[in-house]
This record gives sequence, structure tokens and C-alpha cells, in this order.
Amino acid sequence: MDSANIVIVGGGVVGCALARELAAKWDDVFLLEKMPHVGMAASTRNSGVIHSGIYYTPGSLKARLCVRGNRILHEYCAAHGVPHRPCGKLVIAASDAERPSLEKLLETGRGNGVEGLRIVDRAAARSREPNIQCVAALEVPSSGILSAEDLVKALAREAAERGASVVTRASVKRLDPGASGIRVEVEIGDPADPSGMQREAIEARCVINCAGLFSDDVAAMLGNKRYRIYPNRGEYCEVVKNKSNLVRNLVYPVPHDAGFTLGVHLTKTVWGTLLVGPTSDHIQDKNDYESNRHPVEEFVRRAKPMLPALAVEDLHLAYSGIRAKLLPPGQGGMADFIITHDPEVRRAVHLVGIESPGLTASLAIAEYVRSLVDEVLN
Ligand SMILES: Cc1cc2nc3c(=O)[nH]c(=O)nc-3n(C[C@H](O)[C@H](O)[C@H](O)COP(=O)(O)OP(=O)(O)OC[C@H]3O[C@@H](n4cnc5c(N)ncnc54)[C@H](O)[C@@H]3O)c2cc1C
Repeated sequence: MDSANIVIVGGGVVGCALARELAAKWDDVFLLEKMPHVGMAASTRNSGVIHSGIYYTPGSLKARLCVRGNRILHEYCAAHGVPHRPCGKLVIAASDAERPSLEKLLETGRGNGVEGLRIVDRAAARSREPNIQCVAALEVPSSGILSAEDLVKALAREAAERGASVVTRASVKRLDPGASGIRVEVEIGDPADPSGMQREAIEARCVINCAGLFSDDVAAMLGNKRYRIYPNRGEYCEVVKNKSNLVRNLVYPVPHDAGFTLGVHLTKTVWGTLLVGPTSDHIQDKNDYESNRHPVEEFVRRAKPMLPALAVEDLHLAYSGIRAKLLPPGQGGMADFIITHDPEVRRAVHLVGIESPGLTASLAIAEYVRSLVDEVLN
């Protein structure tokens, strides 16, 4: 049986950021990802927005790791050639009734240490986004956009350069804690070709659960049934090319459902395309990206109050992503990230409910987890 200091389960942006961070200090770091490539789940099925930290409860992990993550992610992208643009965003009040929500975001954001926030009137908002309908807007200069795919690739490449073993098509099936480590049983190969599948085992001194939507299932492999992930799908439409300049940067409504999601917004990507979305629907199957998709009319209905020029013929359906929600359907509000040692098996560290702003926070999460890992290995 192979042995390792650290096994990371899940090669999304968080697992890759962690492998990069930990391989700088520790030998024998393994990153195991069940899909053919890293980053094929939520990490590349999102809005690609570098969030500022205005939405999250002061003092929460989401607030702290988003604000820190925002700073170091902008720097990382610049240093490693990851396409990104520090373009800022506008959160708009569609009516006078929504002005207090802007004030609240301003206050929360300032409390979280987000710099440069200010509320502007309709004329100032329209000078930045001439096609947007609003009565006022919150300017958020530290928001930006990036290519999530290139970020994940850069992190995985650097992790490998620092000595980590990044293994794809490697699905963790069992975790058995013992006196000196956790036995990690892995199925390696292409599930479409069962004859080529192999079972291997690694004994790890520390296991980190970064399995996204499946982090509750991975925790349960250690007998920890405390967590439950409720999959929640977010769907996008893309605006046709000749209308993509209706929006220059990022335009968000005020959050309507007590922070459960940020609401259907308008996102200019680093490639110049314009996205409308994501929606928010709880689903049963963690792998169901496509059944019962919303029609384009639904996206127009939601976006038109912000962008009156948008018409049904301007949109076509694009990709979807699935959020790893900790709160069940019907329960509003926002849960914090859970990042903690397993209470029974301290060699294991769980990252559960890493929904938005997990992409933004990925590098800061990696720094945070490093100290938990040091407690296990030192
Ligand atoms: C619609 C949507 C929009 C979003 N927009 C933004 C945004 O604009 N900005 C932002 O900051 N955040 C955003 N997010 C959140 C962000 O995408 C996530 O927080 C982040 O990608 C989480 O990364 P992760 O590595 O934890 O999870 P994932 O990317 O889901 O990675 C987990 C990995 O674990 C693997 N895995 C699972 N089980 C096993 C196993 N047993 N063995 C081996 N591998 C396993 C999976 O295959 C997967 O690759 C959005 C999310 C969604 C869904």
C-alpha cells in the first residue's frame, strides 16, 4: 500500500488551491479527482465573478475568506497569466423600495473591510451602464471577472510543479481510520470501461475532504453523518453576440430572498460574452445538470426590469451549475462555510457547503486549511 502525508479528495478549485498550498511545505501530497479532468464540477460551472465580500455576515468564514481571497486572487491571476479583469460591479435598486437594501449592503461591506464602496444616483449608474434601468446603485470597485477554467488549470499545474501527485479518474470509495493513518480506497480508471478499473489503497496521515456536492457522502465514509448537502441548480442563458454590449461589466439586483442566492444577474465574461443567470432551484440528483431547464422566456422575465432592451430572441440556453447548499429547500438565509477537523477522526478535515464565494475564496481557504493540516502533521 502506498503511503502519503496528505490525500485531498476532490480536484475542484478548492482542492487544487489546497494541493498547491500544501505541496509547498509537505512531500507526498495526493490530489484525487474522480472526473477525467480537474475542475469539471461547480468550479467551472459558475459566473466567474471575483466577489468583493459585501453580502456575508461580518466575522463569518465567508466574509473573511472572500475579502482576503479577492485580494490574493486578483494578484494570483495577474502573476500567472489567468485571464481576469478587475472591472467592478453595480448592485442596482430597481425602485425606491430597494434603496434600504443598498444601504444595508454598503454597511455590511464596509464592516467586512470591502474598500471603495459608494452609493450613486441613477445618472452616475447610467454613465457606467447606459442600458440599465435603476433609481440608484452601489458601486463595488473590487469585484472582477476571471476565467475559472484557466484558474483551475494554473493551480493544478503549480501543485504538480511543487511535487503534488494530481490523479484524475480516481474516485475515493472508502475511508478507514486506523492508529497511524486513514486507509483511502480508490477506484482508478474509466467507469465506461469496467474491465480497466483498478482498486488501490493509500495510507494517509491526513485526509482533506474537498468533494463539493459530495462532501457529505465523503464525510459519511468516516461515519460522520452530521452534514447534508442539498443540491441547488443555477442555469444560465447567453446573450447573442450583437447584443452582448448591452452591458459593459457586472450588474446585480439586490438579493431578494434573504441572501439565499444573489439573484439573476448580468455578467460580462472575460471572453466578451454576456450571461444572464443563474436561476436557483433545488433538485434531487446531484448529477442532474439538464432536465427540466427553464425556457429563455423566464430569463427575460427576470432580467428585463434591469435591462429593458432584452428580448426573447436575444437569448439562448447556456450551461448550468449545481450549488452545494447546506440549507434545505424552503429555508431562507445563508449558511457559512464549514471547515473543520472531523470531531472523531482528527486526521480528517472537512470542507462542506463551499458554495459561492468559494471560487473567489479558494486561495484564502487554502491558507486557512494549511493551519488545520499543520495541527495534524506537526
Ligand atoms: C451557479 C453557480 C454560480 C457560482 N458563481 C460563483 C461566482 O461567481 N464566484 C464565486 O466566487 N463562486 C461562485 N460559485 C461557487 C463556486 O463555484 C464554488 O464555491 C467552488 O467552485 C467550489 O469548489 P470546490 O472545489 O469546493 O467544489 P467542486 O468544483 O464541486 O469540486 C469538487 C470535486 O470533487 C470531486 N469529487 C467528489 N466526490 C469525489 C470522490 N469520492 N472521489 C474523488 N473526487 C470526488 C468532484 O468530481 C469535483 O470535481 C458559483 C457556484 C455555482 C453552482
